[in-house]
Amino acid sequence: MSGVMNLAAVFLLLLPGVPAARAQPFHWPRGHRAAVSLSFDDARASQIDIGLGLLREHAVKVTFFVETQNLGQRLEGWKRAVADGHEIGNHTMTHPCTGNYAFSRHNALEDYTLEKIAAELDGANAEIQRLLGVKPRTFAYPCGQKFVGRGLHVRSYVPLVAERFLVGRGYLDESANDPSFCDLAQAMGTPFDDLGFEQMKRLVEEAARDGRWVIFVGHDIGQRGYQVTDATALAKLCDYLKDPVNRLWLGTVGEIGEYLERQRGGASDGR
Ligand SMILES: [Zn+2]
Repeated sequence: MSGVMNLAAVFLLLLPGVPAARAQPFHWPRGHRAAVSLSFDDARASQIDIGLGLLREHAVKVTFFVETQNLGQRLEGWKRAVADGHEIGNHTMTHPCTGNYAFSRHNALEDYTLEKIAAELDGANAEIQRLLGVKPRTFAYPCGQKFVGRGLHVRSYVPLVAERFLVGRGYLDESANDPSFCDLAQAMGTPFDDLGFEQMKRLVEEAARDGRWVIFVGHDIGQRGYQVTDATALAKLCDYLKDPVNRLWLGTVGEIGEYLERQRGGASDGR
């Protein structure tokens, strides 16, 4: 079997018209070993109250995936986030997840249709545009879940995300993204809440060994606790990621996603 595969591989290499670029190993630009994005979900108040100042101090730009019903709590702050150059991504209007989570029982993906989830995506985009004047290019699946309905009637809403956004980011994923293979509509998201700096650094270094793209996902920012990215660890991580010695590309989800799309010769469908 492997002999046949090898023969096929050789044949493909010799075949005229097969793009040589496909066979090239992937390299990040400017000698970087890996790419890293920092993202924070839900438009929680601490992201503004604690996060913005910390990020400004370290001159780091992140992606905030906002649940638009929360924007009003810190609207002026979110405008400042945009002015500071952070990316605003879409995280729906009402954050539907499986009804197995008590908070989502009355807004459960099991009870959704594709039309209803499409309205969540488009409604959130419209709200972000109206309140903050920017058009999101990236999306984060609430709870990392990508379906609507039940059983035989389950549908994936990944295609709706692919149609509208450059990147759709997951959550609680166990691997960083392989830049030469990953589907941008289902990019993997690595949690970094409740971790110390050394644990964060280990995740980055594991990814760097394989030249991957880590998209960190956090929620609150402050003192370490449940779904809180530790502010001290985050500050150290920012320093680490920005130190040229470490050869890491720190970019927003949109920036890295755009680079990958360009490498693949795509990005021309107007998203
Ligand atoms: Zn969320």
